Formats: sequence, C-alpha cells, structure tokens
Amino acid sequence: MKLILFIFILSKAVSAQDYKLPILGSGFVKVYRLETGHNDSPEALVYARGKWGTTHRSTHNAFAFDHNGERYLIDTGFGEGIEKQFQKMPFWAKLLFRYEQTENIKEVQKQNPKGIFLTHLHWDHASALEEFLGSDVIVDKEEYKDAFSEGRPEHAFLSSQYDHSGINWKFIKWTKKKYGPFKKYYDVFSDGSVILLPLYGHTKGSIGVLVRVSSKERIFFVGDSVWHASQIYEKSHKMWLSSCLTDGSKEEVFEKIILMHNVWRENKDIKFAPSHHYEAIKFIPSLKL
Ligand SMILES: [Zn+2]
Repeated sequence: MKLILFIFILSKAVSAQDYKLPILGSGFVKVYRLETGHNDSPEALVYARGKWGTTHRSTHNAFAFDHNGERYLIDTGFGEGIEKQFQKMPFWAKLLFRYEQTENIKEVQKQNPKGIFLTHLHWDHASALEEFLGSDVIVDKEEYKDAFSEGRPEHAFLSSQYDHSGINWKFIKWTKKKYGPFKKYYDVFSDGSVILLPLYGHTKGSIGVLVRVSSKERIFFVGDSVWHASQIYEKSHKMWLSSCLTDGSKEEVFEKIILMHNVWRENKDIKFAPSHHYEAIKFIPSLKL
C-alpha cells in the first residue's frame, strides 16, 4: 500500500514538473496593447460554457514591445485597408464577424517595427501587414504554406492582405528541444524575454508568444487557441458553431486547451492573453490612452 502511494505521489510530482516552463535568461520587455477594433456579442456565442445573458467584448489588437531600443509587434490588428479587405468576405461571414474599428489603426502604422510576430495569418491578425514592407514578418513555415494553399478557408484567410511581393517573410527557426510540455521552442533574443511556442490547431502554424515582463510576471499570448480565458481554467471548447467555422482542427485545439490548463496550474506567474478577450487583456497598458 505504501509503495503504491509512493509511486502515485512520484508520478504526480513528475507530471506537474513536466508543465513547468523554465526561465531561460534575465531578459524582460514591457508590452503594450493597441486596440484597433472590437465587437460585442452574447458570451454564449464565444465559448461552450458562456452565458446568453452576459455580453462579451471581443477586441482586435496589435501588441507592441521594445527590445534593445527596437520596436516589435505581436500581430497587427486591423490596418487602414480593413474595410475594403472585409468586403471580400462571404456575406454570412460579414454578418458574423462585423466589428467597429478605432482610431488606433493610425497608431499601429506609426510603430515602424523591426519585426512582427504573427500568432497566425487570419484576417483579423494580419490586416496591416502590407503597411510594413520594411519589417521582418515572422511566422511558422506551415502557417505560410497553409495561408497560400488552394484549400484555405476564404472567410478566415484573405490573401490580398499578405500577397505583396515586398513582404519580408522570416520562418521561425525552432530549437528542437523540449521546453516544458512543448517539443520545440524559439528563444527570440537568447535572453528568455520572448519565447515562441507551437500551438498548432486553430491553424496549421498557430503559435503562442511567452513574454517575460518582470521577475514576477510572464504573459502568454495564445492567439486564437481560445477566445475566452475561462476556456483554459475550465477546459472548455469554443462555442460549437464558431469552432467549426474557425478552428482548423477541433481535436488539436482541445489538446492545446488541456496543455494550457496544465501550464496554468503549474506556472502561477503566467497570465494568459487570448488575442480577442478584452477582459483578460485589459491589464496590459494601452499604448494610446
Ligand atoms: Zn482572431
């Protein structure tokens, strides 16, 4: 009996340890958000356990940080061409994905980033790419291939946003070693401040960006792997129809939800930042108040 208990405790300790994401260096960056648009809807349309009587604000953002005096973005949010781009959507998608844009679209343009990290290439994350032809655009190679493939869903990938020959694509050079539960990672500046992690599922090359903002806090930008932070805490799917329309592989997305849940349990310094969940990301200071 004692032996069984010992093995049980040991296996628990080992599995908990597997989800610890180690600190890789002494680097920090400050992160800001730039909201370029938003959309209010019943929470029940967002995730499986959401309520019809609760209003959920979906927000569309670029996130900005500086490293060694140079600016970088995570996603671009909406660019100046968003209205024209949106007109190319199928009619039903225009009804479902309608939004209000904000003046911050002009602020994003002023950022002049050295590099842009894309969580994925969907229309609401890549809209301003052609405004930054001098910047490196950093994506997973599979995401790039999928976004240009014949079979891409036209309501999610708008190729006119990223087919300019002047875009300076850079594919992530993954370090193929374990990082906690992840099979590979990329420590962008080799100082542990910004770590890219694979979160394949929502799209073929969806990534997360783990940013260390102080000795006590890390922010995990998880893209659209979830739309509501409670999905991570409660291990809950997106709303069924929304997931069918936007998730490339529901099974892979759910695997990542379980993974993020375990990461959340074992790393209390990490705050989760789903791209679109206003309530979950509003603690990140706004670049323009
Ligand atoms: Zn999105």
